[in-house]
Amino acid sequence: MRCSGASRKIAESVAEPLISWLARQSVRRQEIVEVAQVKVSVVKENAPGERRVALVPDSIHRLAKAGLDVMVEAGAGEAAWFPDSAYAEAGAVIAGHEDLFARADILLFVGEPAARDITRLRSGQTVIGMLQPLAQPALAGELAAAGVTAISMDGIPRTVSAAQTMDALTSQANVAGYKAVLVAANAFGRFFPMLITAAGTARPAEVLVLGAGVAGLQAIGTARRLGAVVSGYDVRPSAKAEVESLGAGFLPVGTVTDGGTAGGYARALTDAEQRAQQEQLNAHIARHDVVITTAQVPARRPPLLVTAQAIKDMRPGSVIVDIASGPLGGNVELSEPGETIVTDNGVTVIGAGNLPATMPTAASAAYARNVSALLFHLIRDGALTIDPADEIQAGVVVTHAGSVIHPAVAELLDPAAAGGARDEPGSAR
Ligand code: NAD
Repeated sequence: MRCSGASRKIAESVAEPLISWLARQSVRRQEIVEVAQVKVSVVKENAPGERRVALVPDSIHRLAKAGLDVMVEAGAGEAAWFPDSAYAEAGAVIAGHEDLFARADILLFVGEPAARDITRLRSGQTVIGMLQPLAQPALAGELAAAGVTAISMDGIPRTVSAAQTMDALTSQANVAGYKAVLVAANAFGRFFPMLITAAGTARPAEVLVLGAGVAGLQAIGTARRLGAVVSGYDVRPSAKAEVESLGAGFLPVGTVTDGGTAGGYARALTDAEQRAQQEQLNAHIARHDVVITTAQVPARRPPLLVTAQAIKDMRPGSVIVDIASGPLGGNVELSEPGETIVTDNGVTVIGAGNLPATMPTAASAAYARNVSALLFHLIRDGALTIDPADEIQAGVVVTHAGSVIHPAVAELLDPAAAGGARDEPGSAR
């Protein structure tokens, strides 16, 4: 077929924009291909009793839509009731442990990599999990030496509003506060609510929650919903209004009136302040049926709030659940993490251990949303972009390019080199 001069002109006027449109599309396609090259892998958790998983099938949909390749270790979600088939349906590739480490750009954990897996990591890979670098800086040192970028979910700056969807400490503390009440109710020999029945009237349980941060406020709300009469206490003066807004009373312990820091966390009390606080608390503790303790001071031993003497003064059948109980100690003199003891005077003391792991479906779903939000923040133009000047990244990025770049962690590893300039407690959490 022959074209006239006029029709050739028309063809050219159509073809030119078409060719440049196609060129633009091919650039876009390249960008998409680049995004798809980031391989995110979910590793099966290794800590004893850990049942959570870092991503759930719902989150795979969203990450895949954003162009990320997601691999999930076979069986990673089983203990949280997410079978491999659900991940595969959502678009993830199910892989074996070694394959996962060999192919991943980013490895996701709830906790941290197992010691035996550190040698599987290669330079340039990224590890994201609750790495607790302030409690265990040596792991950060090892990851830096391996050239791995370590990103710790427990460093999300909690007061930055853009980071709230990433706040894993809050999402997991919510689960812990809720579950602590169920654990206490389960161990308690009476009802939580007041019950009036033909067989008599049951008085409501009196529950005291010590520490009114995220877990404490959730515990207060949950105990109230179960019908208990609830009191709360915290060393931060601003907590009073929050406790009262949930319909609980606030304990009049006036020994410390300035227990908060500018960052919203509690400060460590002096020995004298702590003794005065314990003395005042003792009488209150004795008249409660159930005490739930949640008090923490960032990167320090949890404060001792319930002494052995206070436990001696409690009635038989009383229950204490210590959420703060961990390797550094707890809020209760006799509590041991993961252990339940019954004292000679009939008080059950439960060192709660890892409560979020005992509600793995809800805890994993919330954690997966936190991790996904962080990934969306970190991945720009198809690549993981490390920018320590970004206020969220300044909190979470612990190691990068062979060094420990988080100042508070670097100082723990080498106090002399850091010159003793320590961040305010909590800034690395
Ligand atoms: P946390 O786990 O560090 O400690 C739990 C609670 O224990 C805190 O409320 C603390 O004040 C209290 N505590 C410490 N020592 C105590 C003592 N000797 N006696 C009594 N209580 C004591 O706290 P958290 O739940 O992580 O919350 C810390 C702060 O962060 C709170 O102010 C909370 O409101 C704030 N926060 C803000 C956001 C947000 O703005 N999005 C999110 C989460 C938490």
